[in-house]
Amino acid sequence: MTDPHRFVRTSGRLMAAIWLMMSLCCLLPPDVLAANAILNIRHWVAPDHTRIVIDTCERTRYQMVKKGQVLSLYFRNCEVQESIPNSILLNKKGIEKIQHESVGKYRHKVDFFLDKKVKTRVFNLKRVKDKPYRIVIDIEFPDVEKKELEERAEARQQQRDRIIVIDPGHGGDDPGAIGQGGTYEKDVVLEISRKLRTHLNQQPGYRAFLTRDGDYYVPFKKRLKIAREYGAAMFISIHADAAANRDARGSSVYCLSVDGASSAAARILANKENLADMVGGSPNGDSHEASDPIILNMCQTNTRNMSKNFGTLVLNHLERVGHVKFKAVQEAQLRVLKLPEIPSVLVETAYISNMEEEEWLKDPVFQSRIAETVGNAILEFEPSLPLTPPASPAVLVRHEQGAGAGKKGVAVAASSAPRPSSGKAKGPSSSSVQFHRVKRGETLLKIALRYEMSLSELARLNSMGISDPLLAGKRLKIAQSVTSETSEETGKREIKKSSLSQISEPEGQGSVFHKIKRGETLATIARRYRTTPDNLLKLNGRTWKDPLYAGNRIKVKDDGHGDGVPDGGSADRAVKIAKNRDSLRGASSTSSYEVRRGDSLGSIAREHRTTVGELCRLNSMKIGDALLAGTTIKIPETAVVAESQEERTVPAAEATSTRRKATGHITYRVKRGDTLDTIARKHKTPLNVLLSLNKMKLNDPLYANQSLKLPRESSFF
Ligand SMILES: [Zn+2]
Repeated sequence: MTDPHRFVRTSGRLMAAIWLMMSLCCLLPPDVLAANAILNIRHWVAPDHTRIVIDTCERTRYQMVKKGQVLSLYFRNCEVQESIPNSILLNKKGIEKIQHESVGKYRHKVDFFLDKKVKTRVFNLKRVKDKPYRIVIDIEFPDVEKKELEERAEARQQQRDRIIVIDPGHGGDDPGAIGQGGTYEKDVVLEISRKLRTHLNQQPGYRAFLTRDGDYYVPFKKRLKIAREYGAAMFISIHADAAANRDARGSSVYCLSVDGASSAAARILANKENLADMVGGSPNGDSHEASDPIILNMCQTNTRNMSKNFGTLVLNHLERVGHVKFKAVQEAQLRVLKLPEIPSVLVETAYISNMEEEEWLKDPVFQSRIAETVGNAILEFEPSLPLTPPASPAVLVRHEQGAGAGKKGVAVAASSAPRPSSGKAKGPSSSSVQFHRVKRGETLLKIALRYEMSLSELARLNSMGISDPLLAGKRLKIAQSVTSETSEETGKREIKKSSLSQISEPEGQGSVFHKIKRGETLATIARRYRTTPDNLLKLNGRTWKDPLYAGNRIKVKDDGHGDGVPDGGSADRAVKIAKNRDSLRGASSTSSYEVRRGDSLGSIAREHRTTVGELCRLNSMKIGDALLAGTTIKIPETAVVAESQEERTVPAAEATSTRRKATGHITYRVKRGDTLDTIARKHKTPLNVLLSLNKMKLNDPLYANQSLKLPRESSFF
């Protein structure tokens, strides 16, 4: 250090490092540029950071110095636009004011007066679309970030509700698409998302959260992280479409594709939406991290099918609100949907570039309709949706099997932390942990597959990222089996939970196995075997996040334990919860149903309490296939036996006769925000009965104060 010039000669990079250490300065980028100008200084406020953006004409070189609570950026060869005042009083969280002054010839200094306890991050953004070169100064609040993290963990651990994470697209410096009338996509999608959150939060058993709740940009990575931290059962990204063709209109639904886009239009859309990180400003927004094949592989059958089935349901519901652009779910490589373990869709609600639809998008009534439509699709999809997964994931470990032929492989079900019974605090639980020593050449995926865990689970268990480097010799946690729990009343109490899964049990003992076919989901398999997805998970010692692989076998029935449900403390409780929640039990035989005008797969599925996927399977149809009035399709017989108090058992045949018997009606006055769907639901009347009674079609508009006939007695469900 005594002779810094020696270092200069040795290595420029080293010199820079030393310079950085000594003076807290840094130089970016190294090339010297001609005269430059600061065009504008703007700011955005998020809960966990305040962002200052400096627009410049050219790529900008600056020196950064931090003295106490003042951060200064020095610019050379740079002027400041006259319209920018010398002192900007912000008084926003983390920053009081910004001042700038010239310091010598062609040198300019911008000072940021910061609060205590903030972290700063400064980075450059390239030109993109209509954005100039930008320097971003993020003033971050670690205490808020920590609190947010804790809140998410808490929501996740409560495990009482299905958690839906809603992602309003764009935000902050990224307005998204802009309508001819000047409407910003980021604003309308935030409104729709907030309404969807409200709608879902009004439903028992649901909690909804937003990835952003204000006008600021959230990078893709963080949006996905938020969904994971909440342990979301579903992730829905809300957007508005745009096209050069001003006539383009209608909504569409996208899910993640692993191998290219389903159409040219889908590819264009993905390219456009994927720009958000660069426009909105993410430090690594332009680094095109290669599509990680492991991550994409992990988007396994179950999640993908669930996303697609759910997307189809959303489309079916959207059809009732307005025009749908594509009748089938589109697939594209959308970065915001890269959630291998969480069913995720992106909804393009309408075309903001179409003048009429732009007006709709601004209209709170339309916003509510879209929100309720998507929300109702979630409610209809509920039987396939898992409850929020446990915080410490349940994993299944199969030890290497002994060579002896008759020797059973030892299956250890590592149960999750037990669900706390309502109102009782959960005490600490002791756990026994098993490890795997990483060998040369092993990947996380390989290890996950070996222990029949999902990659994300393995990563989470070891507090590492899916793509973190894996060094030989590292000890990886591969199972965590909880052996005791403490309850407030009884103190320590031992509960054995090892009987949850014995996957290597011989088949001769009455257990029934099912070979998973392509396109099947836990829900369809559960229905087929008259059980619930939760039961299947219990039976196989899996968590709902574990991917289903076509060709694999899962246990669907375990005669030794009656209903396929093992006995035992927490298992019992969990099953009870499962029973209360998933009160569906399907039958394997079918009956037929004549398609009526206005029917969609979604409406039929809904009416018969089955899923679109199941209808498709039964009728060898594809989602999006035309449904002609007058044709007959198969529906699962006695589609449902409902077990909750207000839901009585109604076999399909009986329901039909009830429907015929229903005579006489009452009048209902339509309220603002009502949809045919919500009215039907509220009055427990099948939608088609409501339609036929009022001689309406599904897409007919509904006006506030309009009179609707409703059956006098709602004896349908
Ligand atoms: Zn968008």
